[in-house]
Amino acid sequence: MSSPQHTVLQEVFGYEQFRGPQEAIVGHVIGGGDALVLMPTGGGKSLCYQVPALVRQQAGHGVAIVVSPLIALMHDQVGALHEAGVSAAFLNSSLDYAAAQDVELRLQTGDITLLYVAPERLNTPRFLGLLDDLYQQGKLSLFAIDEAHCVSQWGHDFRPEYRALSVLHQRYAGVARIALTATADDLTRADIIERLQLGSARLFISSFDRPNIRYRIEEKKNATTQLLRFIEREHTGDAGVVYCQSRKRVEELAATLVGAGINALPYHAGLPQDVRQQNQNRFLREEGVVMVATIAFGMGIDKPDVRFVAHVDMPKNIEGYYQETGRAGRDGLAADAWMAYGLNDVVNQRRMIDESPAAEEFKAALRGKLDALLGLAEAIDCRRVRLLAYFGEASTPCGNCDNCLNPPEVWDATDCARKLLSTIYRVHAASGIGFGTGHIMDILRGQKTEKVEQYGHEKISTFGIGAEFSEPQLRAVLRQLLATGAVGLSKVHLDNGHSFDTLCLSEGSRAVLRGEVAVRLRASTAASPRERKRRSPAGTLPPAAANLDQAAQVRFINLKAWRAEVAREHSLPAYVIFHDATLATIAQQCPRTLGELHGISGMGAKKLEAYGAEVLRVCAG
Ligand code: ADP
Ligand code: ZN
Repeated sequence: MSSPQHTVLQEVFGYEQFRGPQEAIVGHVIGGGDALVLMPTGGGKSLCYQVPALVRQQAGHGVAIVVSPLIALMHDQVGALHEAGVSAAFLNSSLDYAAAQDVELRLQTGDITLLYVAPERLNTPRFLGLLDDLYQQGKLSLFAIDEAHCVSQWGHDFRPEYRALSVLHQRYAGVARIALTATADDLTRADIIERLQLGSARLFISSFDRPNIRYRIEEKKNATTQLLRFIEREHTGDAGVVYCQSRKRVEELAATLVGAGINALPYHAGLPQDVRQQNQNRFLREEGVVMVATIAFGMGIDKPDVRFVAHVDMPKNIEGYYQETGRAGRDGLAADAWMAYGLNDVVNQRRMIDESPAAEEFKAALRGKLDALLGLAEAIDCRRVRLLAYFGEASTPCGNCDNCLNPPEVWDATDCARKLLSTIYRVHAASGIGFGTGHIMDILRGQKTEKVEQYGHEKISTFGIGAEFSEPQLRAVLRQLLATGAVGLSKVHLDNGHSFDTLCLSEGSRAVLRGEVAVRLRASTAASPRERKRRSPAGTLPPAAANLDQAAQVRFINLKAWRAEVAREHSLPAYVIFHDATLATIAQQCPRTLGELHGISGMGAKKLEAYGAEVLRVCAG
């Protein structure tokens, strides 16, 4: 049991056991093998290269180079390693010349175990020269390529600089490479293997399940109101991320949340660099900040206690949705993934694809991905089963998603769908042009609007035959028809330069019209799911501490205050010093000696030495 990697895991990181496939990966990389690691966010990717780096360094193999696109986070990543007593450094454009030179010198003298570097830095002649020297001396231990999906244009974080990383394989033959990502779909995976020349790498695929995350997708009525209600009822004082489609929406929504007394900040690529950095730092360092953001935010954010991720607009595909929601609950404690979704989301996403200048083949792939997400949103069965199936994993109903907890009532909307489709058909036949959703619904419901009369559409044979359906019902049916491709969109351009989307029949319409496929829908969004109990009367204790008795709660609060001070002194986020879960265990066990403190999960040797005495003092009160 006491292999070098176990000793490192326990002594340096203070963890008892490897998780899932970590052990196999670590063993393979220590042995010099190449690896491609697909693991969900929060799965524990970092240890997969940090442990081999330490073990190989101890065996005289030199430095591990970690390629990471996250310049803004390297400081914290390296800081976390320093806290664990590991010699680590980073090289990126944030360092001034003297500081960079100092790192280079330490690199040459073999003083660094892990070096984090941005891909654009790695590709400079100067840095490659340094690597060449190390390689010749046999002092290049391994390359870790983090966020490896950045190499693929199918992913959502494409970075052209990643393409040049194929140089590693050619130039430093025989040096182990481990590429890691949380984006697992087949297209991206194949692209990573090809672009990084990982054809002979061993593939490690973890389960993508995140059982502590509760998936919920609501019908969008007023997204802002729904979001406010969700936060106020279930997440007061919690850290969370709210994803929006546009920068404008980010700013508006952040302001609205602040107005409602929520500690919210905006983040999008249009904000000045220093504002973005500052907001990100506040999110990481303060407690209970809600970040309202575009997808520009979040990659590499390793804050463990994000309690919810909300989407007020629908993302583009399941990969994006899963990666974004995966930022919740990395500490393994209960967390929510909540989304409001409506007809406009479908229309907007479709339009964005249609209007993009990409090649038709690429657009077809994008549409396929969008359809899978729409299928998830419309699902009346377990969300998790669908999500995992998308990543190629079979599973059974989870009991921890909205559909499992409150099975939706289902109504047969086949008749309604046929009436909608035949209205779309007849209107087009009568007027020679298509119309938008509002007009089609008006005709079906028998509303004599100005527009209806203007076109004489009250004479259409389906006029008024759907009077029994409410507008929300019709919207839901249209949404599903669009989502499943049984209705198409076509663009009409007006003389004044404007254009709008109209409904049209599509390939998929026929089967519905003939009654060959049934359309089954949730009856209406059920009342919001059972509310979770507030955790404590004051609502101030994180879930890690929810079950502590009163004396332990006091110790926990004191430990947190102490931790906040240390974090400030070291200018690092508090969770880098100790996780909540570690503090909660300490508070509960109330150790009296360093020996008792040793062995608590998260308490490595360096932290024990640096903080042990202090922790005991705080515990003793
Ligand atoms: P990822 O990069 O895959 O999103 P991280 O490497 O940040 O995930 O790990 C997620 C969390 O799990 C971290 O807080 C880390 O300390 C913790 N962790 C990872 N491996 C273990 C382990 N073997 N035992 C206990 N905690 C672990
Ligand atoms: Zn479920």
